[in-house]
Amino acid sequence: MSGAVTSGPAGRLLRAAWVCPIDRPPIRDGWVHVVEGRIAALGQGHDAPAHAEADDLGAAAILPGLVNAHTHLELSWLRDRVLPSRDFLEWVGQLMRLRTSFERADDPAAMTPMAEAVAEMRASGTVAVGDVANALVSPALLASAGMPAVVFHELMGFGVTDGAPVVAGAVARHAPLASRDVRVVPAPHAPFSVSEALFTAIRDVVRSAPRPLTSVHVGESPAEVELLRTGGGPWRERLQALGVWRDDWHPPGRGPADYLCDLGVITRGTLVVHGVQLTDAELARLAAVGATLVTCPRSNVWVGVGAPPLERFLASGVRLAVGTDSLASAPDLNLFAELQMMRGLAPGAPARRLLAAATEGGASALGLEADLGTLAPGKRAALLAVRLPAGITDPEEALLGGIVPPAVRVLETAGYHGGHP
Ligand SMILES: [Zn+2]
Repeated sequence: MSGAVTSGPAGRLLRAAWVCPIDRPPIRDGWVHVVEGRIAALGQGHDAPAHAEADDLGAAAILPGLVNAHTHLELSWLRDRVLPSRDFLEWVGQLMRLRTSFERADDPAAMTPMAEAVAEMRASGTVAVGDVANALVSPALLASAGMPAVVFHELMGFGVTDGAPVVAGAVARHAPLASRDVRVVPAPHAPFSVSEALFTAIRDVVRSAPRPLTSVHVGESPAEVELLRTGGGPWRERLQALGVWRDDWHPPGRGPADYLCDLGVITRGTLVVHGVQLTDAELARLAAVGATLVTCPRSNVWVGVGAPPLERFLASGVRLAVGTDSLASAPDLNLFAELQMMRGLAPGAPARRLLAAATEGGASALGLEADLGTLAPGKRAALLAVRLPAGITDPEEALLGGIVPPAVRVLETAGYHGGHP
């Protein structure tokens, strides 16, 4: 279900069996008062504004819309074409073969699946997204779909020796693509595909923004760690086979998060995606610098790198967000399915902590925390009503149980006028 909820000047009162603000415990028999597309107040029982038009949503939980902090919409046409693998480099090989057979991301055969993917995300409760793009066709699509986003323009080049012109050329394309709700920023792909010169050039441009924001895949496969520590292993062989290996390249001799923290690439404002292979010391370092770790559990298993060590992520204190990754490594873009897997990986974690990663964590990581992520007065009323069994006593736990789109109603209310700070 989905549908806009309009409201008059007195606003709209949304009632439900549960209201889950995320930044505090659930409210039984709760209500949310929405005026002109923003949350005016929330509370319990009959202590509600009497003059507003009321909607009773019944056996449901109202919660903030979800934030998918990492996907690749341009890869949506690869749905059902890239098989799960036990070997990350084999999965990468499948992806590369398919992508070189199909270069044009603005082809209708790629655009239609992208538009469908955005609609699917929305129908499963996602209200904002961090999207990694290469061809930069997603910004216009996201803007026209009314989906607030940060589009990370992904740059690669293991052989790049002078990064500044590469980054300047990329950034020159961004201004016409950005809009009120869609920010476009440069982002390095990963330590095995980006030279130190390109990393530092991207870093310098990212740093110059009023609110620095970028994203990088880090510590996804054991092969990446081996390359950085020893200079050898499957990634070296693959880069040689691709003809991009450089004999003057020296391994940093450290783990990937240490390497990128030392370079100044990972700072507060960096989305560190995956982190499956990171040591406890590296996780502690990410927590100390204030980076956000974006976990994509179903993708990690699909590409053969194993389930993420979610309990270690939580214990480290690092800021956590959640992504689905692309339809080349996930069966759908439903963040509730990621939450269900996270519950299995961290059975002892407080339910609210996991839900917070998919709401507040993602909103903060994308610089959207003034508008999204929790139910608080002043924030945008990008709300979900999720149908739950009557009589439950722990709605937050129920939300981790594998919510499917037919149970989700997106209560995006009319009248919102916002944008990036
Ligand atoms: Zn990715």
